[in-house]
Amino acid sequence: MAARLRFKVVDEAFKRGPMYVEMPKERPSEYFAKYVFNKQKMYKYLPVDVYNKMCDVIDNGAPFDRTIADAVAEGIKKWAIENGVTHYTHWFQPLTEGTAQKHDGFVVHDGKGGMMEEFDGKLLVQQEPDASSFPSGGLRSTFEARGYSAWDPTSPVFIIGDTLMIPTIFISYTGEALDYKVPLKKSLHAVDKAATAVAQYFNPDVKKVFSNLGWEQEYFLVDESLYAARPDLVMTGRTLMGHDSAKNQQMDDHYFGSIPARVEEFMKDIEIHALELGIPCKTRHNEVAPNQFEFAPIFEETNLAVDHNMLMMSLMKRVARKHGFRCLLHEKPFKGVNGSGKHNNWSLATDTGILLHAPGKTQMDNLRFTTFVVETLKAVYDHNGLLKASIMSATNAHRLGANEAPPAIISSFLGKTVTDLLEHVEKADDDAFSVAGKTAFKLDLPSLPELLIDNTDRNRTSPFAFTGNRFEFRAVGAEANCASAMLTLNSAVAEALIDFKNRVDALIEKGEKKEAAILKVVREDIKYIKPVIFNGNGYSEEWKEEATRRGLDCEISAPIVFDNYLKESTVSMFEKTNVMTKFELQARNEIKWETYTKKIQIESRIFGDLCLNHIIPVVTKYQAMLIDNVHKVQAVFSAEKAQKISKENLIMIERMSEHESFIIENVDKMIEARKVANRIESEREKAVAYHDTVAPLIEEIRYHVDQLETIVDDEAWPLPKYRELLFIR
Ligand code: ADP
Ligand code: MG
Repeated sequence: MAARLRFKVVDEAFKRGPMYVEMPKERPSEYFAKYVFNKQKMYKYLPVDVYNKMCDVIDNGAPFDRTIADAVAEGIKKWAIENGVTHYTHWFQPLTEGTAQKHDGFVVHDGKGGMMEEFDGKLLVQQEPDASSFPSGGLRSTFEARGYSAWDPTSPVFIIGDTLMIPTIFISYTGEALDYKVPLKKSLHAVDKAATAVAQYFNPDVKKVFSNLGWEQEYFLVDESLYAARPDLVMTGRTLMGHDSAKNQQMDDHYFGSIPARVEEFMKDIEIHALELGIPCKTRHNEVAPNQFEFAPIFEETNLAVDHNMLMMSLMKRVARKHGFRCLLHEKPFKGVNGSGKHNNWSLATDTGILLHAPGKTQMDNLRFTTFVVETLKAVYDHNGLLKASIMSATNAHRLGANEAPPAIISSFLGKTVTDLLEHVEKADDDAFSVAGKTAFKLDLPSLPELLIDNTDRNRTSPFAFTGNRFEFRAVGAEANCASAMLTLNSAVAEALIDFKNRVDALIEKGEKKEAAILKVVREDIKYIKPVIFNGNGYSEEWKEEATRRGLDCEISAPIVFDNYLKESTVSMFEKTNVMTKFELQARNEIKWETYTKKIQIESRIFGDLCLNHIIPVVTKYQAMLIDNVHKVQAVFSAEKAQKISKENLIMIERMSEHESFIIENVDKMIEARKVANRIESEREKAVAYHDTVAPLIEEIRYHVDQLETIVDDEAWPLPKYRELLFIR
């Protein structure tokens, strides 16, 4: 029966054709941000003085003046109703990784027996969702479930379907952050303040420094009927069993290859929706693994980019279903082929240009460039373990350290040009930098080629690579909220820059010239950061040994990696930059450990079920058939001949029962291990137990299931196989 179902869904999947998308009549530039209440709409729907105040909030970070809230809400309501909107919701990012929303209608009683639409400033600015079911790590006891969501005016409201979506922060009754957005915004403020102060050494006119983020989102598509026939995919987002397909990615024929028609229609559809929502989608292509693809928009200011990524992920899931697909964002849906990441292209920019851009025009420009590169690396060096923790999860752990994605050691690749530059700055003898006379300041930096951007040799094995005018943080997981990585990086860079400025100012106070003081501190730091620079092959065994010698964090167990959040240097860094308190960090870690445990627990449960009631029965039946055959052979032939004829069958029967007993015994062992772990009180110890005793058993047992897949009659196999799941026609 089961096998017949498998053939049916495979047949359905292979027959499903593209769902052609009707292209809008207008050009993308015309429908871009159609459903976003951006400045253009503000100008149209708000009174002039209110519009000006909003611009000040958005552009200059001025505080939002509550007295204009009603006028803003009125304008938004008018625009929304014109677009057929009937409901509104605060849209926030709780610590569950996804987004959350609670929809309310605009309608209220009008007091005359009818209804009217209402939406005022109070509703725009604040909502009080019952927050008791969101993870809080003990920050908020359930009897005091109040959590507040408050509008974040720097991220514009938008429309999805009939609902007005209001991006908000989410905080507890006592003011602690219950989401990713609050600490992200604080980190952006911290890095702005610290980087502006340093940037002013080079250009006194700099008023503000932004952090930019350009994410590249990888994902898999699977036909929805095949997906539905895989309970492991449905429950956990990844396949817990499945033998390698004969062909997977070894031919490299998928990467940048032609996009299957069904997928192309999906991509077009997504792009239209994304552009309408103001997400500046630009790139789409096939990725390395079969059925793996990527979207990348043009980079934006980090807060907005994070919101757009969250929005994009939910859009992808929704639109995929329209096209008969399921979109998998799990970091490792299929064993044996590449997993999915989300490169975070990060840079700092002033209102006057990108700070990490090396124009090579003047010596001061080059010194500015060197300073920001070196101080970023100092942040990465000082907090390499923490940065790893910021991207670590039960799901991303499958990618890290496997030879396909960044290793579980955070180091930085700089490429030849920048490496040479740093070496030059460090090694040139002191005279080259001497201060001669009153104004003359001889800064003997080599000028950098204009074409540095295209010049940076690519090193795909580096988790934090310099790529011309930005760093690419490549270890981020496909499913993750980018905010986690971005708030950590920005805070750490802020700390490095604060420290840098303190040291430079101290030298200046002692009578050193500004340029000489900067140079002195930069040279000190170039020496200091050396251990974090690695231009070689990050996948190699030698690197692991070398990195250990260099004192970099080489831990790979996710629950232990999370300890980095509570290290003294971490707490001090987050407190100094005013991003998170120790209390908040502790609460967040409780959630991280708890989430880790739950994920492995669910995997282990569904895996055990599949083993015992999908695989074993099928194997037993096939075995019985073979045994039956052996009996029949004996009835027909002489004993000696029968023995000879059934030899292979007997070997198969035996082999199957070996795999079977291993599976049955170890599923029992796994259940026992869960029971033991479940009794542990501490969330950390429980997660460690799940990591050490439960997770490895899944992998061990899987091997035997996958072996059985190659032995048992294909007609009897109950689950769609990799070769069926992974190749969209
Ligand atoms: P790759 O070659 O790494 O696949 P893509 O062109 O696909 O590069 O994506 C690179 C991403 O980096 C895009 O989102 C792009 O807008 C972004 N990006 C480019 N320059 C910067 C910058 N200075 N800061 C941040 N992001 C940037
Ligand atoms: Mg990239």
